[in-house]
Amino acid sequence: MQITPGQYVDYLVDIAGLIGQKGEYITALDAAIGDGDHWLNINIGFQKLVEKATDLKKEADFKALFNNLANIIMSAMGGTSGALYGGAYMAAAGSIGDVATMDGNMLADMLQCWQDSMMRMGNTQPGFKTMVDTLHPAVNRYKDALKSGSSSREALAILKEAAWDGANSTKDMVAVRGRASNQPGKGVGHLDPGAVTMAMQLECLADYLIKHC
Ligand code: ADP
Ligand code: MG
Repeated sequence: MQITPGQYVDYLVDIAGLIGQKGEYITALDAAIGDGDHWLNINIGFQKLVEKATDLKKEADFKALFNNLANIIMSAMGGTSGALYGGAYMAAAGSIGDVATMDGNMLADMLQCWQDSMMRMGNTQPGFKTMVDTLHPAVNRYKDALKSGSSSREALAILKEAAWDGANSTKDMVAVRGRASNQPGKGVGHLDPGAVTMAMQLECLADYLIKHC
C-alpha cells in the first residue's frame, strides 16, 4: 500500500462528502451530551478543505500537505475538534517528514501521532469518552496486524473494525473530558459524537486505501 499527497486529498474530498450527509445524526449525538455543534464545526472545516482541494493537491510531500491541512483546520474548524485535529495534523507533519508517499507503517505512525497529540492537547486518556477512544484501539490493532504479517488489505479491515468497536465502546463510558463530563449523567448511555466522527474518518480512509492504493 502506497498513498500520495494527491490521493490523500481525494480521500479528504470523500470524507467531506460523507460528513456533509450526516448532519442530522451527528448533531443529535452532540445535542444529547454536548452543545450540539460538533457537526457544524467539523463540516465547516471539511468543506473548506474541499474548496482548497486543487491547491492542496499541488503539495508534493506529506509534511507540506499536513502543515497546510493543520493551518486550514485550525482556522476553519471550530470547537475542541478544530484545535485537536489541527494539532494532530501539525504533529503528523513533524513526524512523517517530507516524503512523497506513505506506506502502511507510515500510516500507523501518522495515526499514532494523532493519538499522542490529542491525548496531550486534550489532557485525555483512553476511557475518558472522547475521540481518543476510537483512535486508540484502531492504532493498536492496526499496528498488531501489520506486525503479525497481515496483508495491508487485512490490516486496513482490522483498522476499520477496531475504530467502530472503539466508537461503540464510548456508549457505556462515563465522560471525564468534554462537555458531557459537566452533565448530570456524564453521557452514560450515549455515544460520544467525536468518537463517532473519528470512526467515520478512519473507515473512509481505510476504504479509500483498499480501493485505490
Ligand atoms: P466542543 O466540545 O467545543 O463543543 P465539538 O462539539 O466540536 O467541540 O467536539 C466535541 C468532541 O470533542 C467530543 O465528542 C469529544 O470526542 C472531543 N473532546 C472534547 N474534549 C476533549 C478532550 N479534552 N480531549 C479529547 N477529545 C475531546
Ligand atoms: Mg460541541
